[in-house]
Amino acid sequence: MMTAARALAQQIRDGSTTAVAACEQSLERITQLEPAISAFNTVMAERALDRARRLDAAGRSAGPLHGVPIALKDNMCTAGVPTTASSKILRGFVPPYDATVVERLEAAGAIVIGKTNLDEFAMGSSTENSALGPSKNPWDVTRAPGGSSGGSAAAVASRMVPLALGSDTGGSIRQPAALCGVVGFKPTYGRVSRYGLLAFASSLDQIGPFAQTVEDAALVFQVIGGADRRDSTSSPEAMPDVLGSLDGSATGLRIGVPKAFLGAGIDDDVLRTFNEALRVLQGRGAALVDIELPHAGYGIPVYYLIATAEASSNLARYDGVRYGYRARLDREDGLRAMYERTRDEGFGPEVKRRIMLGTYVLSAGYYDAYYLKAQQVRTLLRQDHERAFERVDLVATPTTPTPAFRLGEKTSDPLQMYLNDIFTVSANLTGLPAVSVPCGFSHKKLPLGLQLTGRMFDEATVLRAADAFQRDTTFHTEAPAFAGASARQAPD
Ligand code: GLN
Repeated sequence: MMTAARALAQQIRDGSTTAVAACEQSLERITQLEPAISAFNTVMAERALDRARRLDAAGRSAGPLHGVPIALKDNMCTAGVPTTASSKILRGFVPPYDATVVERLEAAGAIVIGKTNLDEFAMGSSTENSALGPSKNPWDVTRAPGGSSGGSAAAVASRMVPLALGSDTGGSIRQPAALCGVVGFKPTYGRVSRYGLLAFASSLDQIGPFAQTVEDAALVFQVIGGADRRDSTSSPEAMPDVLGSLDGSATGLRIGVPKAFLGAGIDDDVLRTFNEALRVLQGRGAALVDIELPHAGYGIPVYYLIATAEASSNLARYDGVRYGYRARLDREDGLRAMYERTRDEGFGPEVKRRIMLGTYVLSAGYYDAYYLKAQQVRTLLRQDHERAFERVDLVATPTTPTPAFRLGEKTSDPLQMYLNDIFTVSANLTGLPAVSVPCGFSHKKLPLGLQLTGRMFDEATVLRAADAFQRDTTFHTEAPAFAGASARQAPD
């Protein structure tokens, strides 16, 4: 069983364990559980062990993550290691450079163990859109781990690694974190460099950590955050001392609860655990305030118009010329046939659906009716939050409307799948930082998450409250039960 990251780094530092031992432990756990979970696209065993040996031999600490294994969502570029976005179209693509987050993690001593599964190009809420097959939820392998960063969430939940990175465009860190019972954190837009992240929707994408504890998530954030001249949208805003602000107190914090937004379609267990979580925060000194977010209900259509529009443009680069896969061609085929066949064979159905939808909403005659309108409502949603944050420090909602759903349950109905993102898309559309922290279990013992959203660049308050919550709860210390490599199935 992996120790949480900060404790592990400490043990390596004081000599009670080594980077190699930590790495081997992680690799063993992966070997044991991967057949049941399918969290990884690539495991970099040799490369990781090699690095661990060098860290141990160096005899001095490389940084706060010295010797700590970490998994990366497979849409972040790793020099010399295939990066697939779980898409056939990137088959054979080996990036010649590291994403900024990878450079920063390694400079802090972290050891990249492997690349995790995702919905193709991070489009989805279950990992079922992966061209490599779905990952499984460690709490019940017949259910989805959520998505799109489902592999990263499942890897941390099953204790294969103490840490992982994901990317969050509409909830892809927070939603799988909630459904797998781990912490998932999306920083403020622009806080973490997107250099080397395969773009999905550039105005929404943000990288962030998965961990067992808020403290570990804060530690990773501290390492990967901050300005990067290679990403023109990265913010020059100074990084706060987030770790230093985790003092266990929520005293004086005003937490806004958008009651009207927590209406129909929300699972009873979700509402019950959410209300219990609010009481825990009250117990730590927070005050609850009723707020209104009148436009939050439009989040899903607005998100799916803007995200698909941006995706249709970003994915135009995959044409068989520059990266990865190229269709087999006959001698008489021209360039156009090469483009068409490569994209037809290389992209899966959900990616095609989104490229078509995005192209449609950007086309002359529809642009004003759909894309422009969506951008206008996005502004209204931002104003809703600005108004709320005049009165409160944080906004609390459940992270998801239901616990983990069954694999296959929503694949035939994309709209049902999209509705799962109702509570998470607002933070991306507004750019605000938001965390999901384990807050209980359904009656079938499936994990649930509490989402806390903060002001722009106020990650410190978001994480302080979430950390205070963890000090009074033990949900994050519970791990899914495995008997050997066979995994549990929740009763019907
Ligand atoms: N589930 C959302 C979607 O399908 C969010 C994905 C994400 O955050 N990458 O677009």
